[in-house]
Amino acid sequence: MQMFIAGEYTDTASGETTTIYDPATGEVVDTVPKGTAEDVKRAVAAAEEAAVEWGKFAPSKRGECLAEAARLVLENEKELTQLLTKEQGKALRESVLEIRRFAHTLEHYAGMAKTLRGGYVKLADGRFGLIMHKPMGVVGSIVPWNFPVSLMGNKVGPALLAGNAMVIKPASTTPLAATRCVELVQQAGLPRGTINMVTGPGGDVGEEILRNPAIRKVGFTGATDTGKRIMEVASQQVKRVTLELGGSDPMIVCDDANIDRAVSAASVGRFFNCGQACLAVKRLYLYDGIADEFTDKLVEKVRKLRVGNGLTRGTMLGPLHTKAQREEVEDQMADAVKRGARVLVGGDRPKGDEFDKGNFLNPAVVVDVDPASKLLADEVFGPALPVVRIKSLEEGLALANDSIFGLGSSVWTQDIDKAMFAAEKLDAGYTWVNSAQIIYDELPFGGVKQSGVGKEHGNEAVEHYSEVKSVVVATEQTSEMVGGE
Ligand code: NAD
Repeated sequence: MQMFIAGEYTDTASGETTTIYDPATGEVVDTVPKGTAEDVKRAVAAAEEAAVEWGKFAPSKRGECLAEAARLVLENEKELTQLLTKEQGKALRESVLEIRRFAHTLEHYAGMAKTLRGGYVKLADGRFGLIMHKPMGVVGSIVPWNFPVSLMGNKVGPALLAGNAMVIKPASTTPLAATRCVELVQQAGLPRGTINMVTGPGGDVGEEILRNPAIRKVGFTGATDTGKRIMEVASQQVKRVTLELGGSDPMIVCDDANIDRAVSAASVGRFFNCGQACLAVKRLYLYDGIADEFTDKLVEKVRKLRVGNGLTRGTMLGPLHTKAQREEVEDQMADAVKRGARVLVGGDRPKGDEFDKGNFLNPAVVVDVDPASKLLADEVFGPALPVVRIKSLEEGLALANDSIFGLGSSVWTQDIDKAMFAAEKLDAGYTWVNSAQIIYDELPFGGVKQSGVGKEHGNEAVEHYSEVKSVVVATEQTSEMVGGE
């Protein structure tokens, strides 16, 4: 597949390519151009031209295009889900959810199009003020490999609705489904060059997106360490950034919780996408009184999670995305075990011909975890869940907040006072009460502490992609009144 600039598929001048491998089989899926800064400059030139036209579209017209884009994506769901599973590894059923989520996000912002408003303020001395929301021009997006399409959608929906043109960089290992989606969005009636995809390494393509003066804002999703670099480079031009970074979400289960529902939420919350999710149950804090029952039920559930090639019917957990990712999780588990932890289930590599060439790992539940171990202190981006016993909500909250991260969090209790106390005290961008960690386009989402800056989703995301400008108007009559001021 080629990259997509100015409404056309194109190669990079150097002719260099990156090979995309299937994480389940190690086989080659495709190649894409290994783009350079020059390709970003080409994309920016196309986007600058397109931004002028797209910015003139009324928001309602932009909304119609977004709705059409969503329709085209759903029309091509089968092809997109196959591509996504082959390049990323996730189970096909999860690829279906991701492609539908992308379409849903486009539809959400399409629906918001007719509600966009500015403001009018009556000022002193007969003057009045207007609050305008203007497009920024060209904006950049840098996307990770864990949800290559839906995380791109979190940027595409609000950025396009706000009237901007886009230059997007996918992760080097997951460009295929996302590039095809970009083509489909472009085909939905947008001026040529409104949405561009440049494939290539973060150090070249990503850094040019940060440095190019014509790009006014960058929306980044990825690791916290990369986010620090993004902020540093963007600061040279005081460029606006939205950073959606790492997380280590705590889940606290009180002794009055509905155990079965909480077990199910912990299992889905930890093992969805083979544990490679920013928002995921990554630390489980259980009240002493229910800990044994809870872990027994959880282990029973986890044993039933079928690991396999994402394309195989019935697979619930695909492979990890890369060998390095699997080794990182194995290292985190080994470190916990060295410090006295016990692995109740999983943590080993499944055996058999169908697993030999892929990055498979059986989902694990780990107890008696020392607080200093990597399994609790670092972000665990894979299928391993550390469990910690607590005696009170206060203890649980103190442990939950003892992290550099603050992305998601959840609490399970039937007591509304406890629930609201926890919702207020948990230092995170999102708290779920008696609910699985599900993201809604209607609600703003973004981390606190080292989990991020700014918000995606909700009306807030559109503001993050707009210039809010004040205009003061004095009529001839009022000017005379305050002449010489
Ligand atoms: P990563 O930071 O390695 O890469 C993310 C993107 O940044 C990729 O496209 C990469 O090519 C690019 N990049 C790398 N170096 C760059 C540079 N110097 N300049 C510009 N771009 C550069 O992240 P990853 O490994 O792909 O994703 C996993 C991480 O992302 C985890 O930490 C996870 O928690 C986080 N994440 C956060 C959210 C969220 O919404 N908060 C969502 C998903 C993933």
